[in-house]
Amino acid sequence: ADTTSGVRPEQPPSARIDPSVPHPARRYDYWLGGKDNFAADRRSGDAVAAAYPAIRTTVIENRRFMQRATRYLAGTAGVRQFLDIGTGIPTSPNLHEIAQEIAADSRVAYVDNDPIVLAHARALLTSKPEGATAYVDADLRDPERILSHPEVRATIDFDRPVGLMLVAILHFLTDADDPHGITRRLIEALPSGSYVVISHATTDLVPREVAATAAPVTTTSMIDMAFRTSGEVAAFLDGLELVPPGISPITEWHSDAPPEHRTPAAQASMYGVVARKP
Ligand code: SAH
Repeated sequence: ADTTSGVRPEQPPSARIDPSVPHPARRYDYWLGGKDNFAADRRSGDAVAAAYPAIRTTVIENRRFMQRATRYLAGTAGVRQFLDIGTGIPTSPNLHEIAQEIAADSRVAYVDNDPIVLAHARALLTSKPEGATAYVDADLRDPERILSHPEVRATIDFDRPVGLMLVAILHFLTDADDPHGITRRLIEALPSGSYVVISHATTDLVPREVAATAAPVTTTSMIDMAFRTSGEVAAFLDGLELVPPGISPITEWHSDAPPEHRTPAAQASMYGVVARKP
């Protein structure tokens, strides 16, 4: 298996890292308790946490949702290939580790546009010999480049079902980026029997006074974000079959905890959904 492919930047990733501007991947790492972040990321993260202290719980729950959805795809759905766009800084267990625990021959193409993720990509290229992983430095806003990228093509056979993972990334695309058109284009490229996994920030699940802080905090935290309603999330999955229970709080989607031990939805205000392409 080719497990070292995909990391061939034109310049060292360090040359592209700007520590003075907050980045989603590094801020997410900060909230998760990681060390790969700078003062600007921590300032941005603290600005959000001041308005919404549950943000740290939210990112932990998002990571758990990603794990449960991956297990569903690899287990129940029998998916063996994953296209994970918006991978984040490697955080154990990573997607390929979860999938390959269920099926060692799982193949994962990781995609992110942040040079810090590229700098850490080696930690994602630890595939079991039966499977494969690749890392591609690309932007969700350029779906053609992702779909035609040689490393993606070498890892994923688009004639067999694919799990398209868009976990905590679509809310970084504003409506001007046409996230619905981009998602439609990606789904078009997948064969029948493929799955799409989405998690997405929303203000639907928090009290009105908390929701009212979302827009001003988005400005002060210097990272543009689009909070979307369940209807707007549903529109990403037009024509697909939603796996029960459909669009739900990430804490509720196939939760493995008894109801009394679950994090309340307001403490992790994100929707999660898994859908199948008929
Ligand atoms: N999917 C992971 C990480 C989420 S953090 C998880 O759920 O745990 C969001 C990630 O999306 C970051 O790593 C960020 O760099 C990446 N990202 C944001 N906008 C992107 C874009 N336009 N293209 C590619 N990656 C993007």
